Amino acid sequence: MTRHAVMIGGVQIGGGAPIVVQSMTNTDTCDVAGTVSQIGRLQCAGCEIVRVAVPDLEAAKALPKIKKQIAIPLVADVHFDHRLALAAIEAGVDKLRLNPGTITDKEKIAEVVRSAKKAKIPIRVGANSGSLTKEFRDAHGHPTAEGMVKSALAEICLLEELDFTDIVVSLKGTDVPLTIVAYQKVASEVDYPLHIGITEAGTPWEGAIRSAVGLGILLEEGLGDTIRVSLTGDPVEEVRVAYEILRSLRLRERGITYRVCPTCGRTRIDLAAIAGQVQKELADVEEPLTVALMGCVVNGLGEAREADVGFVGSDGSGTIYVAGEPVNHSVPEEELATRVVQVVRDVLKKAS
Ligand code: SF4
Repeated sequence: MTRHAVMIGGVQIGGGAPIVVQSMTNTDTCDVAGTVSQIGRLQCAGCEIVRVAVPDLEAAKALPKIKKQIAIPLVADVHFDHRLALAAIEAGVDKLRLNPGTITDKEKIAEVVRSAKKAKIPIRVGANSGSLTKEFRDAHGHPTAEGMVKSALAEICLLEELDFTDIVVSLKGTDVPLTIVAYQKVASEVDYPLHIGITEAGTPWEGAIRSAVGLGILLEEGLGDTIRVSLTGDPVEEVRVAYEILRSLRLRERGITYRVCPTCGRTRIDLAAIAGQVQKELADVEEPLTVALMGCVVNGLGEAREADVGFVGSDGSGTIYVAGEPVNHSVPEEELATRVVQVVRDVLKKAS
């Protein structure tokens, strides 16, 4: 089902647009230079919309300075104090995230909605399992998928009563099955675009896996118009993981898709080290390309032939392939990574 389209600055969410990758800075928003620098790194990694925390008026005052220096839409994340939302709108942000669990006074929400409508910016109704108000939790005080949906729908109703439909919805939970059910339920109730994510997913290792499982299931069901992978640490990792999830389901193409064999008793080169070097040196590539890095001929010949660039290892060396044809035979192991990187750069240059 194609969902209602919403514009965040110049970026469309929903309405059949490609799934948009977003992230959130973890700098102090008042540190304008640090925040702008992190947003620059996020954009280089492919981030298309960025959110910043607005915990106080000082942070709200920093927003116009940040916005002036960045090239992707800016979203303000506001909790508890509706005056911060009003200040963020005044500061010229492209979207506002409001959590129905942290600003509950209907009059104050209405004031924000009227202001967003005047500024023609959308609002994300962002319910979160960790901040549901008591009325939407179960008898034992725990969050449920039904409660999250009810909380979001109550806020959506309020916005609609004010004739505001420029809405994006999210229902992020820490529990993967609960989050999946919550999105499935809300998707059948409203046709606003869905911002999907597993909240507080964890440090990059477990967070990437939990996000891939949760978001993978939703995306495969056709749910999700923009994604944010929540990871503790450098947010650039969130963007890299988001693209890997989207690439795995062939929903977005950006950068290199690697086919790397797991190695086994037949491997006679240090494939892990070579693959690590190749991936590090080619991390800046934005063009879609497939690169196969294989330990031996068993599966290597087939994978290298199918890839744009690949190599097949043998005893202390490897043969490099381009578009299925061998171009360099018996490249010594210690030169393999550098040669593959060169070959990839040449292929990209010829294609441009
Ligand atoms: Fe082992 Fe060769 Fe398969 Fe790699 S491609 S896992 S080296 S059999």
